[in-house]
Amino acid sequence: MSNLTNYSDEIFKCIRCGACRAVCPTFGEELSEISVARGRMALIEAVMGGELALTDAFEKAVFNCAMCGACKAGCPSGVDVPAVIEAARAELVDKKRSEGLVRFLARKSLKDKKSLDRAFSLMALGRAAYGPLAATPLAKYLPYQYEDFRRNFPKIPRKPLSSRIPPVSRIRGAKGTVLFYAGCVINYVYPEIGVAAVKVLNHAGYDVVFVKEELCCGKPLLSLGETEAFRSVAEKNVALLSGVEADYIVSACPTCSLTLKEDYNTILPDSDKAAALGAKVRDINEFLLHETDFITRLDAAEMVITYHDPCHLAHGMGVKKEPRELLDAATLGGLVEMNEASRCCGFGGSFSFLNYELSGRIAGRKVKNIVKTGAPAVVTACPGCMMHLSDALRQSGADVVAFHTLQIYEKAIKK
Ligand code: SF4
Ligand code: SF4
Repeated sequence: MSNLTNYSDEIFKCIRCGACRAVCPTFGEELSEISVARGRMALIEAVMGGELALTDAFEKAVFNCAMCGACKAGCPSGVDVPAVIEAARAELVDKKRSEGLVRFLARKSLKDKKSLDRAFSLMALGRAAYGPLAATPLAKYLPYQYEDFRRNFPKIPRKPLSSRIPPVSRIRGAKGTVLFYAGCVINYVYPEIGVAAVKVLNHAGYDVVFVKEELCCGKPLLSLGETEAFRSVAEKNVALLSGVEADYIVSACPTCSLTLKEDYNTILPDSDKAAALGAKVRDINEFLLHETDFITRLDAAEMVITYHDPCHLAHGMGVKKEPRELLDAATLGGLVEMNEASRCCGFGGSFSFLNYELSGRIAGRKVKNIVKTGAPAVVTACPGCMMHLSDALRQSGADVVAFHTLQIYEKAIKK
């Protein structure tokens, strides 16, 4: 297995200690060894050694991982579990080629800007049809609804972020320029978060450039094992974004940040441009706290909140204290910590589309922890987590609203 053999050292680092069982969200629900990093590493090792074939059960174990990275962050041997699992998925795609709706749609819609725009326009139409159709026998033909047709999708607005903000938002006496990379969820689903990002970055003293032609970061393709499609997207984004004069590249989606920062380097190891681009990437919370005096320019708003750590931000980039410090300064009631704040909410990008039932159970545990705090609002630094938490909260009947950190910072900007 060519691709996986590159990861044999990584796989052999696993000493089977089982520490990952305490933090793995899929194991927490399934309580079976094939649903935890240790078991998944053992299965992949067996496939590499030729003792196990690429069976459907193997495929399920490999695709049932939320790719949250909690195992990697706490692993005493430092096993890069998500990287190994991505390689195993790529191997499955290469050798087994099991096509599915999610995979097909991801390949077709993420490859260029026109396809991406078209896909989200169709999704907006589909979203509008969900309500009336969900109550009819046609409901079974709707994608992603699965057993009980409960999933709540946010409305997709007619105008994406790229039609709402100018290519450059300047301020007088700017300290520098940042390129704001929105990513798909902010661009097409929550453009208001992108609008808030521009206001906040301007308030922090920076001119903001936005490249309307930006593509999806490509992470959904990588997670699905579509390596070649991911490479193509990475090349296009690197060429596009490298051409912009900016001191930093800032994103409000941790998955996008991590992909631009690390995965582009891995897939394009000989590209100086990918390396230079990665070095400029910052999560917006870490940028605001470490590179600006934004925290001193806030008028705290009257709010009590709790905070959920997005996996790719906390485990992937080690950014935990930055949003907390900023949120504390931005709210008068302050931040009430929940139990297991850094445990996955169950979103995991394509994971929640492929495994909605399991991702819903993971989200259920998160909702209980949120509700226990008594806070009327949960804040997170990831638009994907916000979408998944909003769905889970609504289904549970909890009277709690989910926000992105930028929406709270925007409220606290001194007038
Ligand atoms: S914590 Fe790391 S070394 Fe221990 S079983 Fe899990 S993956 Fe293997
Ligand atoms: S990445 Fe997350 S879901 Fe996957 S094995 Fe590790 S802890 Fe479990």
